[in-house]
Amino acid sequence: MDAPDPALLPHPGTGRLFPSPVPPGTGWPEDPVPAGSGPAPVARTAADVAALAASAPDLAALDARVSVCRACPRLVAWREDVAVLKRRAYADQPYWGRPIAGWGDPDGGVLVVGLAPAAHGGNRTGRVFTGDRSGDWVFAALHRAGLAARAASERAGDGQAVKGVRIAAPVRCAPPDNAPTPGERDTCAPWLDAEVALVRPRVLLALGGFAWASALACAARLGWVVPRPLPRFGHGAEVSLAPGRQGDGDLHGVLHVVASYHVSQQNTFTGRLTEPMLDAVVARAVDLAGASG
Ligand code: SF4
Repeated sequence: MDAPDPALLPHPGTGRLFPSPVPPGTGWPEDPVPAGSGPAPVARTAADVAALAASAPDLAALDARVSVCRACPRLVAWREDVAVLKRRAYADQPYWGRPIAGWGDPDGGVLVVGLAPAAHGGNRTGRVFTGDRSGDWVFAALHRAGLAARAASERAGDGQAVKGVRIAAPVRCAPPDNAPTPGERDTCAPWLDAEVALVRPRVLLALGGFAWASALACAARLGWVVPRPLPRFGHGAEVSLAPGRQGDGDLHGVLHVVASYHVSQQNTFTGRLTEPMLDAVVARAVDLAGASG
């Protein structure tokens, strides 16, 4: 990383000036805290996350609360340090430097679950899977499937839009080495639980083993019956989970969890994950969501 640059810098799409990290409600495109909306409540502990996630009245409120969360000291420090130091290629841009809320269709039948934002991808652009090579693969596949308006997702406010699909990370802040601790994973989990409860997807499409485990754990916490031992992760693996308890309203239907290898460059550069392989699991997820819809 290069030397710190504390100056205000122009957003690459709008030209509006921002500091890094970006304060909530200051006009960044797609900021879940809209300008002039008043502050969102800030979670500073794991208990705060659980309480604020469970009490979010709707998806917009949930997204706003996620986007100002400060419950994991190590990740808060990392995401904000990266936002100040930057990567040389993006030294002329402001970095978002905040948690990344879920993004996409609020009624998406398919919820794509990743791992965590990339330091110079989502943590820079403010949108999940946006501005890095992994995200390029995700949005290109969604575009080929007819679910995304554009083949690329470059920045918040770029005109990208999706239909029938939403995308979220189980850990919403960029972690060092892409490796959240178990404690950070668990602290962040209520945000995903609340998102699934509000969006009510029929399919969780898990990108990678971390996402697979997170999706199954989320489903279990929300009351679906998850087999023990846990179904094994592998590309194309899938499991259909029956609802296991009464009282969860729309969460009662069968929930399908479908797995893909992660879209990391370790997989896509080596050919372990190819475009046809990713297209096949996206198509399967769409079919299952349609059949369950
Ligand atoms: Fe909050 Fe999740 Fe970020 Fe931790 S990882 S600070 S719980 S948004």
